Amino acid sequence: MCLFCKIVNKEIPANLVKENDDFLAFHDINPKAPVHVLVIPKVHVDSFNDLSPETMAGMTTFIQEVAKDTGVKEAGYRVITNVGDNGGQEVKHLHWHVLGGAKLAWGHFADADSKNFL
Ligand code: AMP
Repeated sequence: MCLFCKIVNKEIPANLVKENDDFLAFHDINPKAPVHVLVIPKVHVDSFNDLSPETMAGMTTFIQEVAKDTGVKEAGYRVITNVGDNGGQEVKHLHWHVLGGAKLAWGHFADADSKNFL
């Protein structure tokens, strides 16, 4: 069972932000911003590659609620999901990073050397 499935099953503790029947939001253990919450589907989905439009529809509303509940909605925030090796995905259970609470730099998330991909 993957790490985030264990969090869903309460086998590993997490600092929960929000939960409903389908999704879970919890604080990232190694925050990159004052607010850094991970949003996951309770059902195992490997990555964005395997995310259905139906699940995405529910996640959209849930992420919007997380942004409101964590107080970043009005000032702005970032929602990202890393996909696969080149995307830097470490945990192979789809998760959205919701980052905010400060002016976010962009380079940290786009630090590939441009000389190498032309
Ligand atoms: P990614 O690199 O996109 O796969 O992101 C994985 C994220 O999961 C990283 O930001 C980690 O800090 C975070 N993480 C790993 N283990 C835990 C955990 N037990 N609880 C909360 N966040 C975690």
